Amino acid sequence: MAADTESTSELALLAYGDVAAGCTACALAQTRTQVVFGSGSPHADLMFVGEAPGFHEDKQGVPFVGAAGQLLTKLLAGIGIAREDVYITNVLMCRPPGNRDPQPDEIEACERHLFKKIELIGPTVIATLGNFATKLLSGKPAGITRVHGQAQEVVLGGRRVLLYPLFHPAAALYTPRMLEVLEADFRRLPELLGRGVEPPEPEPDPPPAPAARVVQQPVQLGLF
Ligand code: URA
Repeated sequence: MAADTESTSELALLAYGDVAAGCTACALAQTRTQVVFGSGSPHADLMFVGEAPGFHEDKQGVPFVGAAGQLLTKLLAGIGIAREDVYITNVLMCRPPGNRDPQPDEIEACERHLFKKIELIGPTVIATLGNFATKLLSGKPAGITRVHGQAQEVVLGGRRVLLYPLFHPAAALYTPRMLEVLEADFRRLPELLGRGVEPPEPEPDPPPAPAARVVQQPVQLGLF
């Protein structure tokens, strides 16, 4: 992508963040401290989508800064990726009171913001963390226990991306077996980033043209 195009999309993301900061599309606007829009590189190839801000995220305005966030940063470091080089956001931009589950009307009110972020950032791989992000972005009801670690190609925000469902780091904090699975799934991320989305199927070769008939001409030697 050309440098001027990159800065245009970066500015567009900043401008969109300013607009989203005043969102009142659902009742969470009345209980949040602030909107938690997202953080990281606006040109990231890899985007993480979690569930919703928790206590610390609501206070600081940055996603994944609590215990689950520290584990996410550590898992990234384990595969040689700096947190600053990815983009991190959530299904919901506002904290549900008491960290309860996101409600369907809240997800519906917030999804257009998520799709716009995907469109502006243009990642090649989106790793969904946990059930809410996975179900929303896959458009399928299958839960994370069934689909974690299975990359699938989807169209999101008008772009083809690889969707890669992962267990939520919060679930792995106190369950060693789940942490092992999450680490193993993380180890496949570099390969998926190298692969990106499959290029479109090549056009089939046109059928061979019928062989031209070669008509033998008598050789003119120019002797007569
Ligand atoms: N859990 C999430 O899903 N998102 C955060 O930002 C923090 C914890």
